[in-house]
Amino acid sequence: MTGVRLANRNGRAVVLVDGGTVDVERASGGRLPADPSAALRAWDALAEWARGRRAGDADAALDERALGPPVPRPAKVFAIGLNYREHAREAHLELPKQPMVFTKFPSCLVGPRADVVLSSAYCDWEVELVVVVGRGGRRIPEARALEHVAGYMVGQDVSDRRLQFSDQPAQFSLGKSIDTFGPTGPAVVSLDAVRDPNDLALSCDVGRERMQDARTSDMIFPVPALVAYLSAHCTLEPGDLVFTGTPAGVGSTRTPRRYLCAGEVVTSTIEGLGTMVNRCVEAPREQADPRCIAARPS
Ligand code: ZN
Repeated sequence: MTGVRLANRNGRAVVLVDGGTVDVERASGGRLPADPSAALRAWDALAEWARGRRAGDADAALDERALGPPVPRPAKVFAIGLNYREHAREAHLELPKQPMVFTKFPSCLVGPRADVVLSSAYCDWEVELVVVVGRGGRRIPEARALEHVAGYMVGQDVSDRRLQFSDQPAQFSLGKSIDTFGPTGPAVVSLDAVRDPNDLALSCDVGRERMQDARTSDMIFPVPALVAYLSAHCTLEPGDLVFTGTPAGVGSTRTPRRYLCAGEVVTSTIEGLGTMVNRCVEAPREQADPRCIAARPS
């Protein structure tokens, strides 16, 4: 296993090694924190310590179902709309001249195997590369941007298109912040495990059908440009996340349109970072949209 991989097992920071996980606080003799967000704030020390861990140090087998979101409560979750050329084309929209920024509220974040609770019959998938801020800062120049990034992870920017486009202007932040609409993981992966963040394969399957299949080289604003742009306006803090946009192949731009149904499984993969498997489940009866129940495959 290459690089440092920081995950959240039952609320405790762990690093992944071949064949298992190592509890950060226990294995470091209390030198490093148990809380995943605190561990991320100590990223440099953690990464140095973690590089010395080997398969034999594992104190538990890796069970991805026990993993929560690697960064459970970031101060900020930025997300970028229309950041892939092909996706802008399929949406029949012009390429943005500057990053189109919205937020996913942190309460939507869940782990790499969590269920996604569908809020309506119009929920869509969006696989995304997620940037995890390591060292904070303001007005970070593009050339130094990666010095402020702890690592990357896989993310799903699940979107309720009905809520998102319920009025003019659109409700991006709300339609993408419903509880469970932010699967992330399996781990924050350090930069050295990734050859080139601007040329990674990423894909999303719904059931056995490949819906998205692209490379991050199609991004309009690559990672350093996003870090520079966001930090020109907001102070970045350790643990802040940036969902960097989704490639072509979402359900709402297909003919006919295609949305998620209860029982379907969404598999999201990014080269070098890992895979998330998220099952879609029905909202409790009283909250469920009758059209979703009607559309459910029998
Ligand atoms: Zn998105």
